[in-house]
Amino acid sequence: MLDGSKETIYALSTPAGRGGVAVVRVSGPDAKMSLPVLGISDVPKPRVATRAALKRAADDTPIDDALVLSFPGPASFTGEDVIEFHLHGGMAIIDAVQAILGDCPGFRLAQAGEFTRRAFWNGKIDLVEAEGLVDLIEAETEAQRIQALRQLKGSLSALYNGWQKQLADQLALVELGLDFSDEGDVEEADSGLDRQMMETILQEMQTHLNDGRRGEIVRNGIKVAIVGAPNVGKSSLLNALAGRDAAIVSDVAGTTRDRVDVHLNLGGQALVLTDTAGLRDSEDVIEQEGIRRSLSAASEADIVLLMGEYGSDDGIPAIDTAGAEPIVVWNKADLSPVQTSGGSCSRPGISISARTGDGISALEEALTNLVRSLALQSEAPALTRARHREAVHSAVARMEEAMREPDAVLLAEHLRSAVAALGRIIGKVDVEDLLDRIFRDFCIGK
Ligand code: GDP
Ligand code: ZN
Repeated sequence: MLDGSKETIYALSTPAGRGGVAVVRVSGPDAKMSLPVLGISDVPKPRVATRAALKRAADDTPIDDALVLSFPGPASFTGEDVIEFHLHGGMAIIDAVQAILGDCPGFRLAQAGEFTRRAFWNGKIDLVEAEGLVDLIEAETEAQRIQALRQLKGSLSALYNGWQKQLADQLALVELGLDFSDEGDVEEADSGLDRQMMETILQEMQTHLNDGRRGEIVRNGIKVAIVGAPNVGKSSLLNALAGRDAAIVSDVAGTTRDRVDVHLNLGGQALVLTDTAGLRDSEDVIEQEGIRRSLSAASEADIVLLMGEYGSDDGIPAIDTAGAEPIVVWNKADLSPVQTSGGSCSRPGISISARTGDGISALEEALTNLVRSLALQSEAPALTRARHREAVHSAVARMEEAMREPDAVLLAEHLRSAVAALGRIIGKVDVEDLLDRIFRDFCIGK
């Protein structure tokens, strides 16, 4: 069992490999023991970087000229005593320091995410904040960073905590009523439940659930599918937007048979752009499968680029874009002698040439605006994970059951399940099984 263990853990907390600086972190009851074995006789002042000549104390071999910091628990990241060594980032230095730490009695190498896991166990952060930390470390775009930082700072936790507390208060009232009623009275209609408050919380939860998945969109990237007939230039457009040859361009129709996904950062938002097989009637089994996948990519997308050939009357595929926002794109504008801005024959759209690059920046702008409106930067904390969505859904279902339930004993039972569902999000109740899944996403040293 990992948690509550009295072992002291250590790990390299910066990426492995050569670098300017490497940070080795030590946490646990005996963290300070790491100082004398590295030739440091005095514990540095709390949270002050102190210069020290590190050596292998056993035989006085010099190791590095380093900075050392001490973060006494409980006011540290993990809640335990923490010592940090800021070394020069060479492998020989890192290896020497880790070897010496490994020889300390009660010390062992940390497992993935173990520092954060200890922070959770010591009540320094809750699960939602820990997930915010994973997201922050992995953030690649500005929108992802802002959202993750908010989550790490507790705005989402505060929302879930608030609901849980209100429901727990309701549960307490109902249970109080049960304690004071006679055996026969349990069927009584008025259980002490504050229906008005229940309605308000339900409303807030529904709003949170029906936010157009904006939090998940920011976190996972907006899905954009390019669909159209074979040879209209879908793969060329993907490459133009990606700025590299990600998909094969060919004038042999039916070349793209499977979807190609490219991750882009467009104006600070994460985008997953999907090139799909051209839509046409085909006898080829593999191509048919490709077409099936195009249609499925289009139906999962947040935005669909419907592509046609400029000046051709074949036009834009009439497919069901489900809930996705369509943008009509007319390609190969360079082939047409007369260019009218804003479109071609049947449907207005954006004219581009994937070959010359004309119109690509206008398309990027239209995409950026649409992406911004979908991932609207509202102040309200957004739902960021399927795990949270499921739990809030289940809380809503239990609350609705509670509202319908005439029997106060059963009503209390439903409320208790709703409280537990919310508690699982932040990590207040039986989360053992969850922990491994959540902390697995961390690397060693986090
Ligand atoms: P896809 O089947 O829709 O993916 O189309 P491709 O991107 O493979 O392009 C099909 C053919 O059209 C290739 O020969 C491309 O070079 C050509 N093509 C693509 N975009 C343009 C364009 O803007 N102008 C011209 N003239 N040719 C293009
Ligand atoms: Zn293609």
